[in-house]
Amino acid sequence: MARNPSSAVQPGGPGGATTTAQLGEATERLWMARLLRRAECVGASGEIPVAAAVLDPQGRCVGWGSNRRHRLQDPLGHAELVALGQAARLLGDWRFNRCTLLVTLEPCPMCAGALVQARMGRVVYAAADPKRGALGGCLDLAMHPSAHHHMQVLGGVEGQAAQHQLERWFRGRRETLRQQRQAASATRAGTPAALSQTG
Ligand SMILES: [Zn+2]
Repeated sequence: MARNPSSAVQPGGPGGATTTAQLGEATERLWMARLLRRAECVGASGEIPVAAAVLDPQGRCVGWGSNRRHRLQDPLGHAELVALGQAARLLGDWRFNRCTLLVTLEPCPMCAGALVQARMGRVVYAAADPKRGALGGCLDLAMHPSAHHHMQVLGGVEGQAAQHQLERWFRGRRETLRQQRQAASATRAGTPAALSQTG
């Protein structure tokens, strides 16, 4: 189920601002639509189509990332972590109290934990993930008693479009795998005949 905005952000640590920038609904929708287009390209390359961006309080993109787990064979290659790393390098800070992270799929436990650790001001996601989502899907790390920082969280922005994109991608992947199994099976079935011809 998509999350609604939670309570206001708590004061940050040393050097951290105390408020989160509200970019506005139109800006967040615009960026989510951009991320969905980016995710489409990512999906075409064989990765699960997920893209993320970190925006500063002025709405400028300071980091972006897409899922690259398979390409890099890196379990940390989730879109959110890639975007976070890039933004941290650009801003020279690990705290993001006044920033917004947008992502096309509800963050998993690893990414949601990283966003809490990074003191992200606001998280906006598109498709909810009831099985693995960790911002209200299967668990809610933003509201967990261990969370020392409370983020604003909003789910469901362009949620239907993101959901359809993911469903299309997984349908295509299942079909590809089915065809590969069929081809492998046909090859195995043909092997004895081929061997007898060459023997
Ligand atoms: Zn993740």
